[in-house]
Amino acid sequence: MNLKASEHKSGHLVLPGERLGVIEEFIPDSGTYVRDGVIYSKIVGRALMDLLSKRVSVYPLINAETVPKISSTVIGQVGHAQSDNVLVRIFKLGDRSLSGVFTGVLHVSDVRERYVKSMTEVCKTGDILRAKVISDKNQVYHLSTNDKNLGVVYAFCTRCANLLELKRYEMQCPNCGNIEKRKTALDYGQGEI
Ligand SMILES: [Zn+2]
Repeated sequence: MNLKASEHKSGHLVLPGERLGVIEEFIPDSGTYVRDGVIYSKIVGRALMDLLSKRVSVYPLINAETVPKISSTVIGQVGHAQSDNVLVRIFKLGDRSLSGVFTGVLHVSDVRERYVKSMTEVCKTGDILRAKVISDKNQVYHLSTNDKNLGVVYAFCTRCANLLELKRYEMQCPNCGNIEKRKTALDYGQGEI
């Protein structure tokens, strides 16, 4: 059996509709389809021809898991802050660091169940927060912190930039004594970033 024609493609970039082999030589696996006995790639990705199991599959170039989706939990740093919304630079999706830059928006109406007057009592520029993606319209990730596990996980004193400590109803700076307000997650100050 001559596998040379197929072999050279293993690990290589393939495009949708690209011929990968024939069913006489391979068993079509994920990311492929068969027409008239010929196996084609269904997606843009890397072809993997396993000569031992005789399986051919295509792995997506961009793993869908590394791009935030609706209901993804993300971690980001608060950037520009206004009274009714803040921008969040998303750098983590679940437990995984992201290589790309994704920007999220947290609006004051999505902070918690009850009415929140201003974002100044929710988070400040530089804080690290955990949020859930509730919409990705126009490639803008709209975030929500409306859950006890969501909210600020690390907050920094606006006077001296020291890490704030969570007290019963407020945040306190152990360095300068400054008192501030945040919408914190249940595990404030405990998680790894
Ligand atoms: Zn301070």
